[in-house]
Amino acid sequence: MKCLNCQQENKDAAKVCKRCGRDLAMPPAWFPDWKWHARTLGLIYACVTVLYFAVDFALRQLPKPYHIRRIPAEMTPWLKR
Ligand SMILES: [Zn+2]
Repeated sequence: MKCLNCQQENKDAAKVCKRCGRDLAMPPAWFPDWKWHARTLGLIYACVTVLYFAVDFALRQLPKPYHIRRIPAEMTPWLKR
């Protein structure tokens, strides 16, 4: 079998590569392809978008005056500008 690290040909029974010492019993490392990236990023963007609208909706349900996101200055006269 071929070493995945250095392409050295080794005996099938070999446990480690005779040139670089890589463990040949270990399965090859998995690298995500562009499809995996597209699917994962799409899922993350979908979740973030849904979460944004859910939080926006939830904040609108708050009773007055807590629904206000920007507090007017006349509500906080103790805060000097
Ligand atoms: Zn090797």
